[in-house]
Amino acid sequence: MIITVASGKGGTGKTTVAVNLALSIGSTNLLDCDVEEPNVHTLLHPTKMQTTSVTVPTPSVDQDKCTLCGKCAEFCQFNAIFVGKTKTMIYEEMCHSCGGCKLVCPDDAITEVERSIGRIHQSNMGQTQLVYGELSIGEPIATTLIHAVKEQVKTDEINILDAPPGTACPVIETMRESDYLVLVTEPTPFGLHDLSMAVDVVRELKIPFGVIINRAGIGDEGVEEFCKENNIPILLEIPFNRQIAELYSRGIPFVQEMPEWRQQFKDLFNHIVELINNGK
Ligand code: SF4
Ligand code: SF4
Repeated sequence: MIITVASGKGGTGKTTVAVNLALSIGSTNLLDCDVEEPNVHTLLHPTKMQTTSVTVPTPSVDQDKCTLCGKCAEFCQFNAIFVGKTKTMIYEEMCHSCGGCKLVCPDDAITEVERSIGRIHQSNMGQTQLVYGELSIGEPIATTLIHAVKEQVKTDEINILDAPPGTACPVIETMRESDYLVLVTEPTPFGLHDLSMAVDVVRELKIPFGVIINRAGIGDEGVEEFCKENNIPILLEIPFNRQIAELYSRGIPFVQEMPEWRQQFKDLFNHIVELINNGK
């Protein structure tokens, strides 16, 4: 089972929800797919980590063989190749590793070399298996690394995925194959605006979803009204609470200090399982 926690923007409490949910329901795989800014580990403080590099095949041009014919640049849809008067250059960060340029080169001047784009860290923390990706600085394409993080999903276990914020490609890559999506929002006009954009994306993916309102009580009724009008279940409301905020700022998941919340998250999980089973 895969439950993905997402939000239309950063700072809504998405990671807090993912971590507290994982810690409350027992044995889980917790995968942080926000590879540009992973922060699940800042709440879990893993000590022993296994780290592996993630590489992608990237073209390399043998300038001695290259006749500057331009066929590779013509083929590349991502403008990752420039054929000059004396040299052919590859802009590695723009390359999507499709392998096409190597195939179309008539002079066999292109080979592929493995290039590191980031790392995956894994830690066994008792009942929680933590996996998170870390994109190298300057790498613009997050989806390949997200895909590598998702390869650690264990299909016969419970997987909680923390998605990147927003509604762009990395979020969609994370959400794909999920059994259920949890959208975390705040009860403010900004929260509602970002939630409505996230809902549009999620509806396209045809994955069942519900909403968690974080910092409930700080804003207005707009999010609740929106959910009601659009028949979206509100799964949980987490009130704006000084203790929760303080614990977060100290890097402590609040279920560890406020055990009454563990049951709320267990109930949330059981409710999600029911919704999945009922196809809602
Ligand atoms: S591998 Fe594909 S994306 Fe990369 S430079 Fe070659 S044609 Fe362009
Ligand atoms: S297709 Fe091959 S020979 Fe032609 S410019 Fe590109 S690398 Fe050089």
